[in-house]
Amino acid sequence: MGEWRYGAGQGHHDLIYITISTGIGGGVISGDQLLLGHRGLAAELGHITVLPGGPLCPCGQSGHLEAVSPGPAIARFVNEKLAEGDASILEPGPGMSARNVAKAARQGDPLAKAAYTRAGEYLGQALADFLYIFNPSIVIFGGGVSRSGSLIFDPLKDALYKQIMDPDYVRELILTTARLDDNAGLIGAQVQAQIKLSSH
Ligand SMILES: [Zn+2]
Repeated sequence: MGEWRYGAGQGHHDLIYITISTGIGGGVISGDQLLLGHRGLAAELGHITVLPGGPLCPCGQSGHLEAVSPGPAIARFVNEKLAEGDASILEPGPGMSARNVAKAARQGDPLAKAAYTRAGEYLGQALADFLYIFNPSIVIFGGGVSRSGSLIFDPLKDALYKQIMDPDYVRELILTTARLDDNAGLIGAQVQAQIKLSSH
């Protein structure tokens, strides 16, 4: 709501917001309406299954997007691969973070790059599904991992364009990052409150 009214999504009627942070969150505006669902539970975009039988998600189910693409999942993947003997400049341990992995990837570390590629590819795969369901004109990415730039967005776009069933879904689609940064949620709550007040 914040990005729609004051940020990157101004002027759009159909948009998706995806935060890639410690988890993956979503917000959908369809025809200028925030998608809420029957009990306000709609648009849980992080908890769709992208890898059946895959890693455990913080929600308790397995193979969800949130289990493979946010910051902790990137760090966990690197730790697992280091335990299997993969070579890297990164040291295994609880101090592993998506930020450290991004730094190593920019220095050319193959394992670090592979971790971001994997996360981005699952995001691209999921995004194709979201485009089929919501057909937005813009997708806005927020959260810490979205600041890693091409590390996450190149594989995301590759996966998306490779598997999209009809080029019309992506022809005029804008993929961009949030303008309001970490304030998007707070400003969005204010926008929602204003809409509620003005409708009474
Ligand atoms: Zn989940």
